[in-house]
Amino acid sequence: MIKPDGRLSLDPGSQDQPPRDACGVFGVWAPGEDVAKLSYYGLYSLQHRGQESAGIAVSDGSRIVVYKDMGLVAQVFDESVLNTLRGHIAVAHCRYSTTGSSVWENAQPTFRATSSASLALGHNGNLINTLELASLVGGEDGGFGGRATSDTDVLTALFAASASDAGAIDTGDPGAAANGTGQPAEPGVERAALAALPRVQGAFSLVFMDERTLYAARDQHGFRPLVLGRLAAGWVVASETAALDIVGATFVREIEPGEMVAIDERGVRSFRFAVPAPRGCIFEYVYLARPDTAIAGRSVQAARVEVGRLLAAGHPAEADLVIGVPESSTPAAIGYAQASGIPYGQGLVKNSYVGRTFIQPSQTIRQRGVRLKYNPLRDAIAGQRLVVVDDSIVRGTTQRAIVAMLREAGAAEVHVRISSPPVMWPCFFGIDFASRAELAAGNMTVDEIRESIGADSLGFVSLPSLIAATTLPADRLCRACFDGEYPVTVADGDRGKHLLEPAVAAAEAVG
Ligand code: SF4
Repeated sequence: MIKPDGRLSLDPGSQDQPPRDACGVFGVWAPGEDVAKLSYYGLYSLQHRGQESAGIAVSDGSRIVVYKDMGLVAQVFDESVLNTLRGHIAVAHCRYSTTGSSVWENAQPTFRATSSASLALGHNGNLINTLELASLVGGEDGGFGGRATSDTDVLTALFAASASDAGAIDTGDPGAAANGTGQPAEPGVERAALAALPRVQGAFSLVFMDERTLYAARDQHGFRPLVLGRLAAGWVVASETAALDIVGATFVREIEPGEMVAIDERGVRSFRFAVPAPRGCIFEYVYLARPDTAIAGRSVQAARVEVGRLLAAGHPAEADLVIGVPESSTPAAIGYAQASGIPYGQGLVKNSYVGRTFIQPSQTIRQRGVRLKYNPLRDAIAGQRLVVVDDSIVRGTTQRAIVAMLREAGAAEVHVRISSPPVMWPCFFGIDFASRAELAAGNMTVDEIRESIGADSLGFVSLPSLIAATTLPADRLCRACFDGEYPVTVADGDRGKHLLEPAVAAAEAVG
């Protein structure tokens, strides 16, 4: 996709990638603080959740300004841009696309003006009734008042239409939606959002704002994390607790599933728009979240180390060295080494700065594939019987390349251990797992996968072990990509990245 300015935008959907999350969100209300810079550092700490585009919207109480572009946070923003973003409220976003192509128009925060206020919004998750919502605001073909084609833009249009006197639509009973804690909702964006949210289905952790108030909301299942933090003179909401640490905020609590909060000079006001039915994504513990984040009170690092221990108990190996595929697999590799008594060491070095790039690799470079990302430490590997711990197998391409690389570097044996169960089902709640037909475990037995990736042995941690490592009961977790038990039914017509891009979907079907 070539932008009007000639810049090339890569759509990573066609490449073999590890599972990726659908965005990081950050919001701050803090008079007297440089909220643009706080947002920048907040986004920086959430960069792993979305690397295609980044944006920050700031309000000074009377006007919202949005700056967004394709690329990593550090590519999009510099000191001079941040200096133009003045105000005391901000929402910020880094994107990985699951509905709508990776193009500038779909970068976030999204923006809409209503008859009484403006609205900027950032979304982590994926909606599952996008077409129904689009029909409420003008059509299923992206004709709802903008050029964007994402579920997030539909949601923003819905809030704006509901808030606008001229464009008011029937989104249900706002009175019933707004009475969660007995506090009356303010007219405008606040009341409109509370009226619209009960109609929105799927995964959403939202930060949004009008000129004067910061809002955060989380779907009734709480698929994606969202936390509230306290600054000396203000408040922060963020996808992960690690972002609170990085900006000097202290953790207060999670935004509850089915809750919306409004933050302004009166403090934090809480509203309930749906009955909570918590089903947090178990994959956040496996791969998506930072290790220095805590979810539902459980340290992600501790959960990963425990998974490694349980993996060693379930799938022992005769080996000389345990290595992890950096970086998300490192804690599980350490746990495996602790439980097995086999020494832990570093065998692969990751190039941390390979993210989304605007530079197309040449054919020769592309053929080298995974080498752009990992390089083996030959001295550590040569002649060793290795246990290689990785976090997940989706298509299996990455593991095949890693096993081949380790053998080429002189490994005597390569025993692959995976710190999640086989991924057998697609995700509709914000992770771009391939369709079932493309998933290695959807089509092959464990031994067939082992053969396909060229390993001497292969073992996956069991689902009960993974659940145990989170310390949460199974019925509070979404595990659908492992066991096919979806917390909510997703209609066939609501699936697919290009729901609102019929031309793109048709071209892909032909291609
Ligand atoms: S299907 Fe898997 S990746 Fe998606 S929300 Fe559920 S557990 Fe997470």
